[in-house]
Amino acid sequence: YKVKNILSCLDDFPVINRFQLKFWDWISQYYQSVLGDVYKAAIPSGLKLESQTKIILNDEFVADITLSKTEDQILNILSKSKDVSIASLNQATGLKNTLPQIKSLLDKGAVVVEEHISSGYKEKKQEFVSLHSNFTEEEIGEILNRLKRAKKQQELLYSYLNLSKHYFEEKPEKVSSNELLKSVDCSRAILKSLVDKNILKFYFEKLDRLDHSSINTTGLKELNPHQEIAINEIQENFEHKNCVLLHGVTSSGKTEIYIHLIEEQLKLGKQVLYLLPEIALTTQIINRLKSVFGNKVGVYHSKFNDSERVEIYNNILKSDSHKAYQVILGVRSSVFLPFNNLGLIIIDEEHENTYKQFDPSPRYHARDAALYLANLHGAKTLLGTATPALESYYNAQTGKYGLVELFKRHQEIEMPEVIVADIKEARRRKMMKSIFSPELMSHMTESLENKEQIILFQNRRGYAPYLECKSCGWVPHCPNCSVSLTYHRHTNLLVCHYCGHGMTPPNNCEHCGSSGMEDRGFGTEKIEEELLSYFPEAKVGRMDLDTTRKKNAYEKLIYQFEKHELDILVGTQMVSKGLDFDNVGLVGILNADSMLNYPDFRAYERSFQMMAQVSGRAGRKKKRGKVLIQTYTPEHEIIKNVVKNDYFEMYSSQIAERKEYIYPPFYRLINISLKHKNQRLVNEAANYFANSLRKIFGIRVFGPQSPVINRIQNSFIVNILLKIEKKSSPAKAKWILNQQANFLKEIEKFKSIQINFDVDPM
Ligand code: ADP
Ligand code: ZN
Ligand code: ZN
Repeated sequence: YKVKNILSCLDDFPVINRFQLKFWDWISQYYQSVLGDVYKAAIPSGLKLESQTKIILNDEFVADITLSKTEDQILNILSKSKDVSIASLNQATGLKNTLPQIKSLLDKGAVVVEEHISSGYKEKKQEFVSLHSNFTEEEIGEILNRLKRAKKQQELLYSYLNLSKHYFEEKPEKVSSNELLKSVDCSRAILKSLVDKNILKFYFEKLDRLDHSSINTTGLKELNPHQEIAINEIQENFEHKNCVLLHGVTSSGKTEIYIHLIEEQLKLGKQVLYLLPEIALTTQIINRLKSVFGNKVGVYHSKFNDSERVEIYNNILKSDSHKAYQVILGVRSSVFLPFNNLGLIIIDEEHENTYKQFDPSPRYHARDAALYLANLHGAKTLLGTATPALESYYNAQTGKYGLVELFKRHQEIEMPEVIVADIKEARRRKMMKSIFSPELMSHMTESLENKEQIILFQNRRGYAPYLECKSCGWVPHCPNCSVSLTYHRHTNLLVCHYCGHGMTPPNNCEHCGSSGMEDRGFGTEKIEEELLSYFPEAKVGRMDLDTTRKKNAYEKLIYQFEKHELDILVGTQMVSKGLDFDNVGLVGILNADSMLNYPDFRAYERSFQMMAQVSGRAGRKKKRGKVLIQTYTPEHEIIKNVVKNDYFEMYSSQIAERKEYIYPPFYRLINISLKHKNQRLVNEAANYFANSLRKIFGIRVFGPQSPVINRIQNSFIVNILLKIEKKSSPAKAKWILNQQANFLKEIEKFKSIQINFDVDPM
């Protein structure tokens, strides 16, 4: 190696700590992703550095050397400005390339070149005003006198002296330019002239983007007897287990238990990470946490801008500062924050698949990664949910995790009554009101009359999943992906939910030319529209990806619903997770079958979780709630499990299937996905790859298989699935996979094939 000099030291304090380095290494190895990808995901982009070359005048150079005209011009520019980039020199001299002149100036010792490194982070600064010098009282009197004819300037100076309490305080108080200008209602030009006369001066101070304002806290709620028993069991379990699963029915008060456990950690001086699956949820929980822990709590998620994220990151990094957060509430990416003293990680709604990152790499699962993170810190992990992931419940059953169960709702409110509406029957009898069954119609009417609120759930955004020609059945598809386009009425666009492609819907069928294009199926937009036509008096809100793009959109919708400014909230899975409202009398699940029929081995488990969770939003306070499920298959075993709210029955039947068909938790899965624009080539590569894997792993290799959506953004996708026995080493299998992928890439024609690994795919 050629040793290079250190140009400069970037930070006074390392921005990454030892725990992070170990943690990121683990993510990279376990999830088979390049370390660079992990770093990219982990470090806020505002902290990432860019290098720039700057030219600086050398103070020590001897001025009697001869210079060309352009060289002279360059020196002139440099003498006026501290540091200049090559690009700006080119611009200032009007030359295409000033590099030869700069080289010659370098040789002559006139300039130095400096690599300047900067980040995207911008400090937020506030402008303040102070007296230009330490004037004596006499001098100030003279100045005021001199300003007699500039009345506005005089007034402004008086105001400054007033605001800064100049005559009363040893050290004047800070006065911001804005505050000063507002006090006398004059233009900035007046202030500027006082500065130009060297009477006042400007200075800047860094402004904290984070809110540290103190909050009135109310203290902890007293736990009810069931919660009391549960928290004791959790603590006992933590004495010999690193991880405990708290399986507590919806509204049993799991959050209150978390709050008590957090309090304990804070007393020990430890940090707590509280993970949630969805930004929408953080907006409700943050208020509950702040009302107990005040400004010791911080939030972290992707709706913050780059600079805000840097400040949150730095806040946690400097954990000894008095402003440092001790509790971080965040979504999956918060596992990457610079904790140095974690005592507890809480993973609420641990069953949620939003904890898993699909794309881009690293394809990590925040719950599983958090377990490793906790071990690094010697911390404990608490998983909480009403509907555990099969994997977690299995780990609890087999003793790997502690198991604590809570079957009573707070104040012993009964679990909601679940009613099943048979849509097949209603259609046969022509009783459907568009997408609403007669049962749902009558329950909605009743709830609205009783001034109770309603949540309607449909896991599909947009107006209609697809359009179809009435005469020939032609369906408009995305030109880049193998999916039909979803119709959005608000924007009157057909949109691809995979690549974002949008187009105006055709008036005529592109296949037969007839003019009858009809929408099929329904999404949240259509439900909203139908509600307005059947219940014109009702105030309806919609919560899905389309209505929550803006930063504070979640807060607004949740606030409106909490304050009963909305009667009905229509939404996708966003409304199904952990939200806590007081007055929801009815929850409607509009199409249970689309979840049940999803082609995935976890479809039944997920359908149960989704239905049980959204049901859990009903009747949380005071009164028992109702849930209405619309389905074509009322006799389905999962629907029956939901009606009885019988998690254990669902678990038993599903775990038996997993065992029989060799799936997790009995086997580990790794999905290998090959991608290329050329379909023939990617198929050929996948066959080759699967065959070479079969020589090593035998019958544990499945595929190659085309996924349901086998083309996204013009790339064809083929999957190979590897199942690994629990007892054999996954690390070894991963090593072999990487090696085989490298072999494949060495074959000339397969060079451009993209290979992605997804470890523990969801
Ligand atoms: P979960 O997290 O299990 O769904 P929550 O913690 O949200 O349940 O509790 C449901 C509701 O009951 C919340 O509004 C919560 O404030 C209230 N609650 C739960 N436990 C208590 C308690 N011990 N004292 C007062 N209110 C409680
Ligand atoms: Zn047609
Ligand atoms: Zn597309």
